[in-house]
Amino acid sequence: MIEPPPRSLRLRLDREALAGNWRALDRLSGEARAGAAVKADAYGIGVAKVVPVLREAGCKTFYVAHWSEVPELLAHVAPHQVVVLHGPIRAEDAAFAKATGVRPVINSLHQARLWLEAGGGACDLMVDTGINRLGLPPGEIGDPVIARLKVETLMSHLASADEDSPQNEMQRRLFEGLARYVPHNQRSLANSAGIALGQAYAFDLTRPGLSLYGGVPRAELADAIRQVAHPQAAVLQLRDLSAGDSVGYNATFTADRPMRAATVSLGYADGFLRCWASCGALRFGEAMLPLLGRVSMDMVVVDCSTVPALCEGDWLDVPYHLPQAAERCGLSQYELLTTLGRRFQR
Ligand SMILES: *Cc1c(COP(=O)(O)O)cnc(C)c1O
Repeated sequence: MIEPPPRSLRLRLDREALAGNWRALDRLSGEARAGAAVKADAYGIGVAKVVPVLREAGCKTFYVAHWSEVPELLAHVAPHQVVVLHGPIRAEDAAFAKATGVRPVINSLHQARLWLEAGGGACDLMVDTGINRLGLPPGEIGDPVIARLKVETLMSHLASADEDSPQNEMQRRLFEGLARYVPHNQRSLANSAGIALGQAYAFDLTRPGLSLYGGVPRAELADAIRQVAHPQAAVLQLRDLSAGDSVGYNATFTADRPMRAATVSLGYADGFLRCWASCGALRFGEAMLPLLGRVSMDMVVVDCSTVPALCEGDWLDVPYHLPQAAERCGLSQYELLTTLGRRFQR
């Protein structure tokens, strides 16, 4: 096969910032060590690029959600460093965990039985302390099936850590209380936002995801966390617009004066969703180029009247400082990362 030419979309990964973010979160975790949530292809950044950097920085525990995410991760880390959050929901899942040596999170009595039937061994146990999503209900913690588990990490997950909610302290206390009923080697409660709640939430192991990749779920983290993902898109075509010309599907923008417009290789199929249409801009050097009209599947059009030097084939930056971008377009910082499409050169 002939290699295709370089892509017209690229995602620059700032490895220094990624490693620095992990180290900052590890330091903020105090006595606890930080692991890393690398589910959903490392939040859309790319497991193959992200995991080696985190491993070199010192990270030893890697969380994915699906069993299907395990093989790619095992190309970079040892099986005992991999934890699968969704747990074994079918016998095949438990058999796969046994065969590969990765650790399942047990979330229910059903999952505990499947795991024991497959032969059992070290597992993590998620107890629900109020998110009511995934995890063993507190009332089932005394079940004899649970007593037969070999629990490495007892876990729970915070529902509102990005807010100053009384739910945080309620969950922390319930977690401490429940931990008395289950023998375990270590405890883990905090995600990125949970780390910012302070050392009382760190226990033995923290599980940051979002903030590794530049997300700032709480203001306390703003100074410690740097942008990691820098998307760029190439200019496909330049054109002159006259007053009265409209741009894009449904002609939602009409020029009121002569303008220069650039058509750019970036669309909603790449994760640049239609909500950007009214508020988005791309950047050329220091110049901000506002979007004109709709976001299409593969293209946007920007006003480049202020940058006459711009040429077809030039690269534009997509402003992706996550807290600012989220504020601007209304998507969450998580969505901004995980929707970045497969056409980016990573
Ligand atoms: C995704 C996830 C995390 C990471 O959360 P962030 O908010 O991205 O830091 C931690 N723990 C569990 C159980 C998760 O599902």
